[in-house]
Amino acid sequence: DESVQREALIAAVENVAARIEEEKSYLTDLDSAIGDADHGNNMHRGFQAVAEKTEDFEDMSPGDIVKTVGTTIIGNVGGAAGPLYGGSLMTASQELEDGITAETSVAFAEAYLDKVKDRGDAPVGAKTMVDALTPAVHTYKKSVEQDDLAPLTAFAKAVDAAERGVEFTVPIKALKGRASFLDWRSVGHQDPGATSTLIIMEEILKTAEE
Ligand code: ADP
Ligand code: MG
Ligand code: MG
Repeated sequence: DESVQREALIAAVENVAARIEEEKSYLTDLDSAIGDADHGNNMHRGFQAVAEKTEDFEDMSPGDIVKTVGTTIIGNVGGAAGPLYGGSLMTASQELEDGITAETSVAFAEAYLDKVKDRGDAPVGAKTMVDALTPAVHTYKKSVEQDDLAPLTAFAKAVDAAERGVEFTVPIKALKGRASFLDWRSVGHQDPGATSTLIIMEEILKTAEE
């Protein structure tokens, strides 16, 4: 029921914020190789602000919690990642209005990916977060809808797919975002935004498994 989902979401948000704090310098190091060395700081600032709001979450619906996570990220994170993460969470949160089920979680994942692609205009293979998200969302949808797997099992498969997506960003050339300014010199480096996407998904999975 709603209070169980609320507590799970609050735990997920707290775990993601703590993990982002741990990975802050790693994410910034990745961004220093092909960007402007701020991705870890950007994500950290955003999720610290989100973690400070968890008390307000106590009387919100799951959809409103996710929406507030999105608006808080937009309000605290600039650059490319802020509007991509925050704006997409905000829009996709509408799919959770009737609570979190297998069906609404698939709709949420698809809406989130659509919004990221809509905003950032990056196709698969441009060395962005889209490269982690696309296989993850497709795997989740297929696992739930065609293979009839439980959401948690499906999500674990989605995390594996995201991990392969992150690895796929290494040998390719950036076509979008700051890293694209480097042209072929971006080859051989892992994309920071794809990496933070994977880290967030890993932490959500860990929370859900507990
Ligand atoms: P900035 O590049 O403005 O400093 P960040 O460093 O916080 O912002 O985020 C960089 C990440 O944003 C990249 O690693 C990439 O994954 C993602 N990104 C950048 N541009 C786009 C885009 N057009 N579409 C999707 N993701 C993008
Ligand atoms: Mg940056
Ligand atoms: Mg920047």
